[in-house]
Amino acid sequence: MKLEIINPHGFCAGVTNALRLAQSLDGVYCLHEIVHNELVVSSLKARGFKFVEDIREVPDGELVLFSAHGVSPAVRKIAKEKNLKVVDATCPFVSKVHREALRYASMGLPVVVIGKSSHAEVKGIVGEVEESVCGVVTSPRLLDGIEKGACIGVVSQTTMNSDEVKKIVEGLKKYYKVETMAEVCGATRERQDAVRKFCRKAYDGKSKIAVLVLGSVNSSNTRRLAEIAEEEGALTYRAGNIEEVKALNFADIEIFGITSGASTPESFFVEATEYIKGIL
Ligand code: SF4
Repeated sequence: MKLEIINPHGFCAGVTNALRLAQSLDGVYCLHEIVHNELVVSSLKARGFKFVEDIREVPDGELVLFSAHGVSPAVRKIAKEKNLKVVDATCPFVSKVHREALRYASMGLPVVVIGKSSHAEVKGIVGEVEESVCGVVTSPRLLDGIEKGACIGVVSQTTMNSDEVKKIVEGLKKYYKVETMAEVCGATRERQDAVRKFCRKAYDGKSKIAVLVLGSVNSSNTRRLAEIAEEEGALTYRAGNIEEVKALNFADIEIFGITSGASTPESFFVEATEYIKGIL
């Protein structure tokens, strides 16, 4: 089996920044998981961090850390009313999407968000322009209450599949006049492109290729990497911790690539890679 490390992989700038902020604090409240990774979250829990899903759960006057995924103005308002001391780890690329959504709303356009409505980042974006949002979509469609031919503003969750975002925008253009700069963030795109490139280079029509994607099940960008490896014809494995890696069966693979999501610690990546080298 030939083993290849797919680069770039692992922490992006937004995650690095969020964790740098967390490291500078001791045992505070954190609204949502700081980043979607079980290893990161459990190490912060061990240091006394308390994770809450609702800002109202934080006692008045306490210090609270906002996750890299951003928050809505309503959350900021409650934090102010509760006199909370806020440390904001929102990624600048997420803030950029908020500003873009606000720009479309200020132009009087209905705003469409490409993304998963349950994701914390999408909730923050929707909350930013609540009155203007006419849909959260994962495929192009006619929007409730918006006539065909109308002008709409489109933004995207930063961790979607970059090719899918382009397709959805093109599909929406069949129904509407579209104002958009919607795209995934650079770190997401680079990690996805690296997986596509590895699969296309490795696949010669004969060899059995596989990709192992390291990261937690609730990490959107990790999920996208696995979906892309599958789309490209690779046998795809996922693991969130070393026990899950050890439980996998890698028999009969000839070319093997390893990557990890933008919230996956490099220490786990190294541990998993060393283990795999040991069983080759
Ligand atoms: Fe920021 Fe992109 Fe990293 Fe999300 S994946 S934290 S948007 S750099």
